[in-house]
Amino acid sequence: MPWATRSRYRKVRDRASYAFALVSVAAALDLDGSTVRDVRIALGGVAHKPWRATVAEDALRGGPATEAAFAAAAEAELAAAAPLADNAFKVPMATNMITRTLVQLAEARA
Ligand SMILES: Cc1cc2nc3c(=O)[nH]c(=O)nc-3n(C[C@H](O)[C@H](O)[C@H](O)COP(=O)(O)OP(=O)(O)OC[C@H]3O[C@@H](n4cnc5c(N)ncnc54)[C@H](O)[C@@H]3O)c2cc1C
Repeated sequence: MPWATRSRYRKVRDRASYAFALVSVAAALDLDGSTVRDVRIALGGVAHKPWRATVAEDALRGGPATEAAFAAAAEAELAAAAPLADNAFKVPMATNMITRTLVQLAEARA
């Protein structure tokens, strides 16, 4: 099961326990060697509903599974973000979380 082999949920929060997510990422990566065969990414804590990162997914599919590609896809996903007055910090936070999560999935033993 490719999705189960490389999948992860990450949650950034203010405190170590009993705190809701500032940003959360659920991601699954399906690799063909060092190429992204398919990828699924969803964000929590960034909108009025769970946010499927389809821009990043489309950018990554069929391309290299590298940190540079992950970072570029994450930045493309967040490029159109329109934060509210007090939550602009979530834009770089979500960008970094997508990138780090995908790097870890790519490095994980299949
Ligand atoms: C103290 C506490 C502890 C919790 N602990 C847990 C737990 O341990 N496990 C668990 O599963 N759940 C827990 N929950 C519940 C969990 O936090 C929520 O279910 C979850 O955060 C909901 O995620 P969400 O992405 O739908 O929305 P939210 O986390 O509410 O995020 C919505 C974000 O999007 C922003 N936003 C909304 N509309 C817009 C817009 N139009 N433009 C820009 N930004 C927008 C909001 O300002 C907000 O920052 C806890 C909740 C609390 C309060």
